[in-house]
Amino acid sequence: MTLRGLDNLIQEVGVRGKRVFVRADLNVPMRDGAIADTTRIEASLPTLRKLLSAGARVVLSSHLGRPKGKRDPAFSLQPVSEALASRLGRPVHFAEDCVGAPAETAVANLGDGDIALLENLRFHDGETKNDPEFAQGLAALADVYVNDAFGTAHRAHASTAGMVASFENVAAGDLLQSETVNLDRLLTPERPFMCLLGGAKVSDKLGVLEALIERADVIGIGGAMAYTFLAAAGQPIGKSLVETDRFDDARDIYERAAVNNCDLLLPTDHIVATGPDQADTAQIVTEIPDDTAGFDIGPVSASQFAERACGSKTILWNGPMGMFEEPAFASGTATVALGVAESSALSVVGGGDSLAAVNQLGIGDRIGHLSTGGGASLEYVQGLTLPGIAALER
Ligand code: AMP
Repeated sequence: MTLRGLDNLIQEVGVRGKRVFVRADLNVPMRDGAIADTTRIEASLPTLRKLLSAGARVVLSSHLGRPKGKRDPAFSLQPVSEALASRLGRPVHFAEDCVGAPAETAVANLGDGDIALLENLRFHDGETKNDPEFAQGLAALADVYVNDAFGTAHRAHASTAGMVASFENVAAGDLLQSETVNLDRLLTPERPFMCLLGGAKVSDKLGVLEALIERADVIGIGGAMAYTFLAAAGQPIGKSLVETDRFDDARDIYERAAVNNCDLLLPTDHIVATGPDQADTAQIVTEIPDDTAGFDIGPVSASQFAERACGSKTILWNGPMGMFEEPAFASGTATVALGVAESSALSVVGGGDSLAAVNQLGIGDRIGHLSTGGGASLEYVQGLTLPGIAALER
């Protein structure tokens, strides 16, 4: 997909003295009023630096959390403006609201190369409802529109979709563009192509499984979602998490994998315990006892997944292989992560938990592409049209 990028916008249209609306993804995790992880702030910097040094008047916006259309100080972007200011080495003016007088005044006071951050877009329910009036209020703040929020590109919200048609000149920010360039490589992957999917629920990953089964040579399934597949095939799963209403979908996936010559790998050994907080009862088994639940894939399965990853040319990994937050159940995810890192394949890792695992292990620089958008990247690799990206196409 070809979108106008930032460099093209700066060279062809020019941004000096222009008010440039930047929709970024500054949805950082907060703990006790402090930013718990700054990854998304760092990821937004290249686009901001480029625009500021080209003399743009940057009107920066984002959502944070789910304040459900109401002003809630716990979800204020104010701490983010301070974190941005220290990284950009210049003041980041903060507007107490994203529309109306506070926003208009903040924007009117911007000089060339200045930046203002608007308060959380989701303090207004017009954002998620894609309300035309709210979208108009946002659009009135700027002359040019840039979307760099890949993580919300799968949502048709006012700031990602509704307001965009009002602009003659629009562009993809550097982060959004690098996501599309890297994820495009999974649409026509070099083979063998391996997908590793994990996490809690089959239902969340069904769409991507259905799409990838036609494209992938091997799909490794771990995490709690594996138990729905095992149970659907009649295997004992004890007290493991399961979605009984997804058995038919699971059987359908087995059949389609066979038809498409896609190897569907499920764990053959497990780390079980009597409960999630009973790590002291953890043991490795090949058959899950009735009074235990599986909390991680076992070492044999983890090595098998990692080996297949090493032999692949393209890898997509999304979702942990177990309840990796608990050290006793983290080894499956770690073994798979190391396998992906060791592979010479083009590897793409997405989803908050998989990224956290990669960061914990300090192997981020050995992964081809770390995708900042969990849900958005899964929709993109299915070949679906993302409203935030479609809006940028001219
Ligand atoms: P998701 O949001 O669907 O990617 O799921 C991630 C969550 O699934 C993490 O918090 C994991 O702790 C959890 N999880 C993964 N495997 C298991 C498992 N076998 N049993 C319980 N929870 C799991």
